[in-house]
Amino acid sequence: MPRRVSTTPPPSPADTQPVIDRLRGELKRLSERLTRIEAHQTNANREVSRDWQDRANEIQNDEVVEALLPMTRNEIEHIRRAIVRLESGEAIACESCGRTIPEGRLAIVPETRHCAACAA
Ligand SMILES: [Zn+2]
Repeated sequence: MPRRVSTTPPPSPADTQPVIDRLRGELKRLSERLTRIEAHQTNANREVSRDWQDRANEIQNDEVVEALLPMTRNEIEHIRRAIVRLESGEAIACESCGRTIPEGRLAIVPETRHCAACAA
């Protein structure tokens, strides 16, 4: 059994549903972005530009893409976990003070393991 906090009851499904919906939308958006990034990487490996200016732009794009890829994958993973946590309806305790992290905060920072006060 996951650890529960007694001070506040766990969020009811009615409270978390809009948050879950929003996170699902976010997840879809990020998945689409990931697909685009991966497509760009595949193209970048195949195409060679004759024009040095084009090539310079491509290199710059590749660097941005390289930074975006792990970031996007990370975000997707965090949001997936947040959805699972919210759907299970279990209260999530702050790892520092043990108080329940409000679902509103989870909606903003799904990957958080601390309440706003401890994260500050
Ligand atoms: Zn805390």
